[in-house]
Amino acid sequence: MPYITESGKKLITVIPGDGIGPECVESALRLIEAVGAPIEWETREAGASVFKKGLETGVPEETIESIRKTRVVLKGPLETPVGYGEKSANVTLRKLFETYANVRPVREMPNVPTPYSGRGIDLVVVRENVEDLYAGIEHMQTPGVAQTLKLISRKGCEKIVRFAFELARAEGRKKVHCATKSNIMKLSEGMLKRTFEAIAPEYPDIEANHIIVDNCAHQLVKRPEQFEVIVTTNMNGDILSDLTSALIGGLGFAPSANIGNGIAIFEAVHGSAPKYAGKNVINPTAVILSAVMMLRYLDEFEAAATIENALLYTLEEGQVRTGDVVGYDQGAKTTEYTDAIIANLGKKPTQVPVREYRPIKLPEVSPDPVFVRPTTRRVVGVDVFVETDLMPEPLGQMVETLVAESPFRLKMISSRGTRVYPPTGTQIDVVDQYRCRFLLRDGSGDATDAQIVELLQRLNTRLRWAHIEKLQEFDGAPGYTKAQGED
Ligand code: NAP
Repeated sequence: MPYITESGKKLITVIPGDGIGPECVESALRLIEAVGAPIEWETREAGASVFKKGLETGVPEETIESIRKTRVVLKGPLETPVGYGEKSANVTLRKLFETYANVRPVREMPNVPTPYSGRGIDLVVVRENVEDLYAGIEHMQTPGVAQTLKLISRKGCEKIVRFAFELARAEGRKKVHCATKSNIMKLSEGMLKRTFEAIAPEYPDIEANHIIVDNCAHQLVKRPEQFEVIVTTNMNGDILSDLTSALIGGLGFAPSANIGNGIAIFEAVHGSAPKYAGKNVINPTAVILSAVMMLRYLDEFEAAATIENALLYTLEEGQVRTGDVVGYDQGAKTTEYTDAIIANLGKKPTQVPVREYRPIKLPEVSPDPVFVRPTTRRVVGVDVFVETDLMPEPLGQMVETLVAESPFRLKMISSRGTRVYPPTGTQIDVVDQYRCRFLLRDGSGDATDAQIVELLQRLNTRLRWAHIEKLQEFDGAPGYTKAQGED
């Protein structure tokens, strides 16, 4: 686990970050120092300053080297400057170290008034952090039609679902909700739902519920106190976790952890808030609570509880609060707020329930890339995406003629997922891209690559194709969905 220095301390990479980052991180470091946790820091650079030096990733080799060694990072926010630097340094870090779980807890804070005050919000969003639309695999299929691939793996689902149940156990929580859009994306979002339902029985002590993600957003605004842990796919989690931050008083109070296999990066949910940079006015709570999560990850439970209790006690007292809570004309300086928490180390809040934490058992899943092995499989057809300015009916007739002598028959043509040929009698607005679905005439056959290439050659005599997908069957079940209106 963590790298132990010669003096017996745990070595952590610290990245102060951009904008308000250094001020927030400084608060957290002062508290960890004051509580006497056995931590040593290795300070490294990433973000705007690095982009400005011309390094496109925003993360220099010394920083990557340090993280490889320490395996634990506390970081401030990193800007993605517009105009220089192509990529987000944050995404580079998350992907490079495959931190598959993004953990975003929120809880009601004493004396931080919100429309929800008094309702006891205390929940965690567990967001899958590396797959889904964020794999960033995009193509222009035609000059006017863009595509993003949404990749969800069974292995990725198992890791995140097990992580969510283990987190619930470690934090004494009794309920996990899985939020997906499986009613529409039956294969991709559905994979998380199916995995959740398969794994839930291994955790009989925890109530498991599936919820459609749009209703989850609705319920979070209506009755957020009903949730304890929400596990969800990357984009759903991105959106839901910003919503949950707002429920408890905003980004100043929202910490997070990015957890991978033997690696963890702790940071606030917020960004570099450049307008407040260097003014000593921002709220460092989110970074302090991220540091508290880090201490628990390092098994420093006592130090974590001491800092968290002192922070909650300070807010309960209500004398020293930052500008985001009481207005910037009246708010305490960042350093004054930190001093107040340090002065309260050893004190416990009286109104806020204090949670007992246990070490989390991180999931172990097989490293085998072939995570799912079907007994039988075959290719039953192929979807070919073509570019044309033809209307659906003449296109359909032309394709029928082109494939008349082929082992494939045209099953249907769809435009952005809705069948347009054979005609359905409704009228939809078409674009210059269609999907032609071909099935083997021999319904029990297994299409070869040579047959597919021959099909493409036939189509290519009259049409431009951009993209194909094999239609596969695994253990007798179709590995593809039907178009809207397809019979
Ligand atoms: P932001 O930096 O999170 O700031 C948005 C607003 O949230 C601020 O203007 C402020 O609201 C409030 N806020 C954020 N942190 C606060 C704190 N600690 N205390 C009090 N108020 C706080 O979002 P952004 O302006 O969209 O992004 C700025 C830069 O940060 C961008 O370059 C973005 O790419 C980057 N970013 C980095 C990360 C990361 O490193 N993980 C995450 C998000 C964004 P008011 O204006 O209402 O006072």
